Amino acid sequence: MSRVLLLGGTAEARALADELVARGDDVTTSLAGRVARPRLPVGAVRVGGFGGPEPMADHLRGEAYDVVVDATHPFAARISANAVTACARARVPLVRLARPGWAGHPDAGSWHWVDGHDEAARTARGLVDAAGPDGGAVLLTTGRQHVDAFTGPLADRAVVVRLVDPPEVPLPPAWTVLRSRGPYALAAERALLAEHAVAVLVTKDSGGDHTVAKLTAAAERGAAVVVVRRPAWPGTGPVAPDVPGTLALLADLADLR
Ligand code: NAP
Repeated sequence: MSRVLLLGGTAEARALADELVARGDDVTTSLAGRVARPRLPVGAVRVGGFGGPEPMADHLRGEAYDVVVDATHPFAARISANAVTACARARVPLVRLARPGWAGHPDAGSWHWVDGHDEAARTARGLVDAAGPDGGAVLLTTGRQHVDAFTGPLADRAVVVRLVDPPEVPLPPAWTVLRSRGPYALAAERALLAEHAVAVLVTKDSGGDHTVAKLTAAAERGAAVVVVRRPAWPGTGPVAPDVPGTLALLADLADLR
């Protein structure tokens, strides 16, 4: 049996907790506490930040974890960087579970790849302007945290912003908020894009199956797609693309102990 700290907040983290608890590991999933009603994993759960890498290292030592699995979202860059530092300081092995991005998607070559949310907003603005005053709406699916990067550049355009929790910043009057949580099916995404006459889809390279249907729906209707590239993971240890790969890495580590 291993004592595992699982940095979560993703479907993969919940699936991994299922596997680890089923085989008898002592698993604690750590959640940031950002979402009002999170889907909870099996096993123990702790909620809230650690206070930075040094307190996190203290926590790892205090709880005597055998291993940390960072299964956070590919865009949760701060907690991933903190985990790299904290695990090095506390001398606890770190395994990264990161689902592959969408660069291999058949339509990826036609997307507008950008390095951040500000560039995504400028690019989306240029694309809707090119489509003309009645050229269609922007569907914004990059999440609540970076909505403010888009409110200025797209203030006077029709924007549909899809969020799990309500926005934290005031939105322009022309914008529509859709509250929902994936996974999303292709038929529903087609209907959504048609209903709002979406001409530009803005997303980040989250990867995975749960939210990929919007990309197919966008390609079908000829909508432009703007994709924010992932931040690089700063660790040097092993990275698995899925739950079975993570279990294999954990087995390798257990053999070394
Ligand atoms: P972030 O910017 O990397 O982290 C900000 C701070 O939140 C961290 O420094 C840490 O606080 C705390 N934190 C984040 N994840 C935590 C966790 N699993 N357990 C304990 N503390 C955590 O993260 P984020 O982008 O806000 O994402 C927050 C959570 O939502 C993550 O767990 C992630 O897996 C999940 N999520 C994120 C996205 C996304 O697009 N970013 C999408 C889906 C799910 P301290 O420095 O105080 O320790």
